[in-house]
Amino acid sequence: MQVLGQEDLLSLNEQVFKPATAYFICERESLRSFEKDHPELEPLIKILLRTYSGIYDQPVSIHERLLGSLLKWPLEQIMKGLNQLHRHQLIEYAPQKQEPEIYFNQPRRKATDVQIDQNAYRFRKEQFIKRVKAMLGYLSVNGCRSTFIARYFGEASPSDCGICDQCLRNKQPKLSAEDFRNIYKTVKERTHQQSIPAVSLFDHFTDIHADQLRKVIDFMQAENKLRVDLEGFVRVEG
Ligand SMILES: [Zn+2]
Repeated sequence: MQVLGQEDLLSLNEQVFKPATAYFICERESLRSFEKDHPELEPLIKILLRTYSGIYDQPVSIHERLLGSLLKWPLEQIMKGLNQLHRHQLIEYAPQKQEPEIYFNQPRRKATDVQIDQNAYRFRKEQFIKRVKAMLGYLSVNGCRSTFIARYFGEASPSDCGICDQCLRNKQPKLSAEDFRNIYKTVKERTHQQSIPAVSLFDHFTDIHADQLRKVIDFMQAENKLRVDLEGFVRVEG
């Protein structure tokens, strides 16, 4: 359809295809007294308020079928209820409009006479594939995501943002097996036969990142090799 539209053979008016919308136009007070007089509609009011945040401030798209399955009401009952709320001027309800409209811009032609500009079609298709590939690249990128986007939009040398998930991950220090062994050994030595404040453990290391030490301590705790008591003292177990 869109291809035919781009060829100016027809225009597709999707405006007409609108989901149902609703929003509350009454005071909360009058809503409460209405609920007292019409207890049968109370569940519908409650589910509207609960399911669609903002429904009190502006029109939101609602799905009659979803409401029906939430309340276990048949669709007709939902529509009837919504119309009742509308008539009582509690909500402004516009039911879903079903059909998109199509206008033929040119006199009717036989399908065999319709020419589609193959080059333009291919070009748009390639553009589309390019965009999808870029999106997939974004998902699998190893470096900064913001940098990736900036490059996509033509910026020559963007700098890393420092706050996306990739940047945060790259900031975390790596812990090699050798680092691990060394830290493990030192922690054991320092806490052997004595409890020491966990914070003072950090003083025994000058050349490692605090996160590396934390990782080793977490590991030792998980393996029951070490305990940190309530006062924050560390002791090697066994
Ligand atoms: Zn980043």
